[in-house]
Parts: sequence; C-alpha cells; structure tokens
Amino acid sequence: MSLSSASIQEDESLQQELHQDGRRLTPQRKRVLELFERRGSGCHLSAEEVHQQLVELDLKVSLATVYRTLRLLADMGFLQELELTEGGRRFELAVADHRDHHHVVCIRCGRTEEFESQPVLEAGAQAAKGFGFKLIESSLNVRAICPDCQS
Ligand SMILES: [Zn+2]
Ligand SMILES: [Zn+2]
Repeated sequence: MSLSSASIQEDESLQQELHQDGRRLTPQRKRVLELFERRGSGCHLSAEEVHQQLVELDLKVSLATVYRTLRLLADMGFLQELELTEGGRRFELAVADHRDHHHVVCIRCGRTEEFESQPVLEAGAQAAKGFGFKLIESSLNVRAICPDCQS
C-alpha cells in the first residue's frame, strides 16, 4: 500500500506545523514513521519489531530510542498507541478514516487482528451521552489466545 499524493501533502503541512510548534520531525523520526507508512494502515507493531526492522535497514539505534520515538510520534498524532496489558504496547498509523475499529490481541504472541462493530460504537456513543460526555472515539481491545498459541 502506498500513500496517495493527497496524504503526502497533508503530511508536509503537518510537518511544517510541527516545526513551528518547536517539535521537529528529525530524520530518525521520519524513518520510523515511513516504516509504518510503507505498510499502510491496519499494521500493529511493537517497539521491538520496529527496532528489528531498523537494524535490518542498517540503522544503528537503540531499543530505548525507538521506544521514545514511538511515544513521541504518538503524542504528535502520527501514530496511535494500543495499550495491551500482557502484550505490551503496539503502535499503528493514525489515519482519520481508519479510527473506528477494534482489536483482538493474542496475549501470548501479540498477534493483532482488527474488526469493526456497530454495536460497540453505539454502546460507546450511548454511554458518553448518558454521562453528558463529548464522544471522541470508542475502541475495544479484546484479549485472547490465538489458534497457534492454543496448541
Ligand atoms: Zn488497528
Ligand atoms: Zn498467539
């Protein structure tokens, strides 16, 4: 999957904004972001996996730096962070039209699958409304054990 020219332009203006904001998208941060962009949305990577891919690209970078970079990119809104109790944290590209989805995560190997569910979205909207909250998003993380890890 490749980026459309529209989203590249959007990225450039975002990068300008970030620059003004005092937070720079350094070459290293860009490298990490590109790794996600090349794979497209729906790809969930752990810090260890990102680190391994950078090492394979001959980039000398520590796991701690990769971790910091991922957190920063999530803070900047480029990546979305999934917090999973046993599986650690995984990161995916933050894409506006790919927000309303949920995850089934294997607690043993971290395999992550996505699904959509209208009832979950409705339950979230109803709950927020019931408490007078302004809804931002409803997402569900289901912890499970994948077929491979069951045997
Ligand atoms: Zn996802
Ligand atoms: Zn598994």
